[in-house]
Amino acid sequence: MVNIVIFGKPGAGKGTQAEFLKSKYNLIHISTGDLFRYHIINKTSLGLKVTSILENGDLVPDKLTIEILENEVKKHKKTSGFIFDGFPRTINQATALENKIKQLNVSIKAVLNLDIADQEILNRLAGRGREDDKPELIKNRLKVYRNQTEPLLGFYNERSLLETINGDQSETDVSNAIFNVLKAEVV
Ligand code: ADP
Repeated sequence: MVNIVIFGKPGAGKGTQAEFLKSKYNLIHISTGDLFRYHIINKTSLGLKVTSILENGDLVPDKLTIEILENEVKKHKKTSGFIFDGFPRTINQATALENKIKQLNVSIKAVLNLDIADQEILNRLAGRGREDDKPELIKNRLKVYRNQTEPLLGFYNERSLLETINGDQSETDVSNAIFNVLKAEVV
């Protein structure tokens, strides 16, 4: 199993690079953001619970997030690995993932940190047009990132899993940089 975490600020390009990794290494792409948006669109009971949280750019409570991730992993018993995109986003989530690694068979090979400045994020997301991409909401999401998600850099660095990649390059250049990092790790 090759499991990879793709990590970075909102708008760093996690989803785009996850799609690259998915086709390159034949992995299952799990985006917690996409899962929540699916539930919101389909007005499931989970969707109704999290609608206003996503609208405000806050984080969904850890318990719900861990549950949705775990359910999704369990759906794919035969995969050669997963790309976790947007998960974990808190130390609690990372610890939960670590505690379930054996049970779910998802040991992590690398955490790819797409590194990019806030100003570049603001420029990029202005053009994306998603509901939560309004400037004041982007600022909140960056604040949430700084307070709750950024501490994970230390968490994964301590475990020697962190690989930082310059996210302020073209999509292809970021993909090539990722490929160069992973070729040492993934056959
Ligand atoms: P972005 O990285 O651009 O913020 P995502 O699609 O990853 O986009 O996430 C969108 C929203 O979904 C987040 O702002 C948050 O409300 C919710 N979300 C996604 N992943 C998580 C997570 N791991 N923990 C808590 N909330 C999450």
